[in-house]
Amino acid sequence: MTDQEPETEAAGAEHPESAKAAKAAKAAKHAEGTYIVRATEVRKVFAMGGEEVHALKGVDFKVKHGEYIALMGPSGSGKSTLFNMIGGLDKPNAGKVFIDEVDIAALSAYELAWLRCHKIGYIFQTFNLIPVATALDNVMLPMLFADVPASEAQDKAVELLTKVGLGERVLHKPVQMSGGQQQRVAVARALANDPAIVLADEPTGNLDSETGRQIIDLLREINDTEGVTVISATHDYKMLSVSDRIAWLTDGRIERFVRREELDIQEGHTDVR
Ligand code: ADP
Ligand code: MG
Repeated sequence: MTDQEPETEAAGAEHPESAKAAKAAKAAKHAEGTYIVRATEVRKVFAMGGEEVHALKGVDFKVKHGEYIALMGPSGSGKSTLFNMIGGLDKPNAGKVFIDEVDIAALSAYELAWLRCHKIGYIFQTFNLIPVATALDNVMLPMLFADVPASEAQDKAVELLTKVGLGERVLHKPVQMSGGQQQRVAVARALANDPAIVLADEPTGNLDSETGRQIIDLLREINDTEGVTVISATHDYKMLSVSDRIAWLTDGRIERFVRREELDIQEGHTDVR
């Protein structure tokens, strides 16, 4: 990682024109065929009592700039484990994860913290908000970690909360909000530092069907308008219709990749050709 990356990101955040340029640059990279995420032969073993659980058994996973990917698989198939490896939240026992062609295992603690703060936005099934802090404070927090001045962070947080439909509720606390509203706050927070990638782990897992649909549409909109790459671990079939590509994970292995065009999606019924 170069010293210049933080500056480039900050410039993109301030000027819509730069954001457009950043999006164009991402599209160009996409066309070039480089990958924003590349995992090769990733293995993860957990020790459970005296036993070993092989959560990932050699996963190869490539994601292009600007793609919307659903990582589908039943409970226990390794979705969260893979999500944690890609997000630099945990380390594989073998194999490598590259973000923008940088091997994240080679990063210093500072560089890894920078990557997690600026380059990736995280969304979790259980929202993971600070319950007693306002929506505004929750969204401001990652920006304050990134040394954005408080007044600027506040303006940006209001802007993001408005974008996710919570402009009237910026001073509400998560404890005063519905699950869907809390997840909207989490989406706004994930976007706080203009990440290149949003990683969402079962973002609709705790929501009813209609609210889940709204969050899925919101993620798709962010992907379309901002060019943010979205990778969502899920077993929500509603995710299929918005995804560019679906990776099917079974028992620690990616069984296959399917493009959306290859799916025959009908109401209440999905067939994979
Ligand atoms: P998913 O997100 O698809 O439900 P996980 O990635 O959470 O699956 O889990 C994959 C497998 O790894 C499961 O068998 C699970 O029990 C195991 N596992 C996950 N995390 C741990 C852990 N911290 N310690 C032990 N086993 C774990
Ligand atoms: Mg999981």
